[in-house]
Amino acid sequence: MQETKSTCPYCGVGCGVIIESTGTQITGVRGDPTHPANFGRLCTKGSTLHLTATSPVTLQTRLLHPLQRAQRNEAALPVTWDAALTLAADRFAHTIAQHGPDAVGFYVSGQLLTEDYYVFNKLAKGLIGTNNIDTNSRLCMSSAVAGYKQTLGADAPPACYDDVNHAQCLFIVGSNAAWAHPILFRRIEDARATNPGMKVIVADPRRTDTAGMADLFLPIQPGSDVMLFNGMLHIMLWEGWVDTAYIAAHTTGFDELKALVRDATPERVAQTCGISVADLTTAAKWFATSKATLSLYCQGLNQSSSGTAKNAALINLHLATAQIGKPGAGPFSLTGQPNAMGGREVGGLANLLSAHRDLANPQHRAEVAALWGVADVPSKPGKTAVEMFQAAADGEIKALWIACTNPAQSMPDQATVRRALQRAEFVVVQEAFATAATCAFADLLLPATTWGEKTGTVTNSERRISRVRPAVPAPGEARHDWAIAVQFAQRLEARLRPGRPTLFPYPTEHAEQGAETVWNEHRESTRGRDLDITGLSWDLLEHAGPQQWPCPAHPAGGVNADGNANALPPGNRDFGKARLYEDGVFPTADGRARFAAHAWQPTAEPRESRYPFSLTTGRLRDQWHGMTRTGTLGRLFGHVAEPSLQMHPQDMERRKLASGDLVHVTSKRGSIVVPVQADTTLGLSQVFMAMHWGSEFLSGVSSTGERLAGVNALTTSAFCPTSKQPELKHAAVKVLKAELP
Ligand code: SF4
Repeated sequence: MQETKSTCPYCGVGCGVIIESTGTQITGVRGDPTHPANFGRLCTKGSTLHLTATSPVTLQTRLLHPLQRAQRNEAALPVTWDAALTLAADRFAHTIAQHGPDAVGFYVSGQLLTEDYYVFNKLAKGLIGTNNIDTNSRLCMSSAVAGYKQTLGADAPPACYDDVNHAQCLFIVGSNAAWAHPILFRRIEDARATNPGMKVIVADPRRTDTAGMADLFLPIQPGSDVMLFNGMLHIMLWEGWVDTAYIAAHTTGFDELKALVRDATPERVAQTCGISVADLTTAAKWFATSKATLSLYCQGLNQSSSGTAKNAALINLHLATAQIGKPGAGPFSLTGQPNAMGGREVGGLANLLSAHRDLANPQHRAEVAALWGVADVPSKPGKTAVEMFQAAADGEIKALWIACTNPAQSMPDQATVRRALQRAEFVVVQEAFATAATCAFADLLLPATTWGEKTGTVTNSERRISRVRPAVPAPGEARHDWAIAVQFAQRLEARLRPGRPTLFPYPTEHAEQGAETVWNEHRESTRGRDLDITGLSWDLLEHAGPQQWPCPAHPAGGVNADGNANALPPGNRDFGKARLYEDGVFPTADGRARFAAHAWQPTAEPRESRYPFSLTTGRLRDQWHGMTRTGTLGRLFGHVAEPSLQMHPQDMERRKLASGDLVHVTSKRGSIVVPVQADTTLGLSQVFMAMHWGSEFLSGVSSTGERLAGVNALTTSAFCPTSKQPELKHAAVKVLKAELP
């Protein structure tokens, strides 16, 4: 029996796990009692990781060898790694030569490790010279990134999980943490039990399990969050609950915001949000006057056509009331995926560069070019997720490389995405599981390692970097994601810049050493930046455990970097910083945070007489993304066994529907047939469907007759103009009873 410490590959809580194995087969998993994210606890998904890793279905669906299709719609046949990577390099080099570097695109994933992300980013922006690299994290947290940068000056969540234990008021908005971040929610429940004075406010269109524990539940209309926050500020100003001394000393832009929220009168806000003036006032009072208020928020704010405004308007409340930079207080955005944060750190999005640098900043581009040893990094903005697939559908992007994500199921407006995959001249899919819907569109399928086999690092919601370690060898010919990217890059650079030293000098034949070499380069890129981790090393992570950033090198000469955990005071294993901005100084040019004045905007696609329902999508407690792993285990269907459309009983009655009836759910983009279920947690004119169900469970059809699968047949690709994050939390739909033959 062997035990290997690693990290859960599902949500952004980032729980530590101990994998039990024979060395060749995983036999069990349990929570790591020393990991600060979970202290030994695991949720249903985490505690069944070993079963999903070894279930017969999983083993049958693993991609074990590189496969090539001579023609689309033909069977994919085995090919050697060398032949596969050579073909990929030839096709990409040809496309670049014929059409320029922006004719190729990379779509990667918040489930990749930081090292994987780093290499892909360098490959696209450094070697090829295109910024067409984006990630499924665009669908998950890019509004949070934009909101933090716009107000606080850097993409850095200022709070940490321990703040739950110090908060006197928790404001949970657009987050069903009980299902989406279960172990953090257990911590909230524990804090509540030991602190009876704590107030919990939950604002959400659905009365979720999370809302079930609220002292005050605000069932706001979909998309009305900015109005809610501006209305709360209006009341805070009226009542004198803002902290004028903090505003004067540490912020700018308050006068403009003050003028903006003058119109957000309690009556107007209550009407737009669908709540009472009394509840609105109570929320404002508890938020502002509590000793410490912590906001926890997630996709309800982020997945919106005004996602940046929602994030910024909430952060405004923290700045106006000085609920930031002290224990138990701050705006704390929760990440959906295990390494969305790591992707942000290495600049793995179309508009970012390494270490929180901005592509639009010439100095930042020059710094990264110098670090990578290339002449320059192109200034032309890359295509973000929705834009990338639209560009491929339009024929502008001709070669696509997709790693560790399943856009044919998970992207909004699925018809356009599938059209893009069909039209692209060359599609590479780097995947662990052959069942991912996107595999059907691949010219080349490259088998990748997955949880239990990979080595590297991830960063969770509270900026904590944890090691991911392999317990068993890679099956078949599967290779690590970063190594595949390196081996492709080395072949491509032989064609693009022959005779010059490689930009990718990482030993792919030694996984541990290679991944650490990549990480060390990433670490160097952070020197002097807000997320400086020059005080960390893999040695230190080994000896002292997971660490939060920033963690700069010791001024006296890098004591931290020596990995000498014994130098710490007894009981202290933390080198990093738990919470940010305790000194009231922000990473902006003048050191002040900036209020952002955003007026409320309605959702991009209003409900109207032909499409009278607002469709919201979201997670189930026991499933993960497209169910390639969790869908292999019967017991994880015990919570929710099959797809359904949730609808308020009064709406069902008006349409003469009974639970279990099949209904057509139709948007302007497509239609699906699904059983309807009565659900009193929803408001009138709202319906909900889980995001997980794919073609095995839920087929659909586009408005032009193409076959689709899952709820994203219906969703809209309308996105926030700043963050480019699509509005997955609202689409206007109609619901009609399906006539049985
Ligand atoms: Fe894994 Fe998230 Fe569950 Fe923790 S809470 S065990 S990270 S799915």
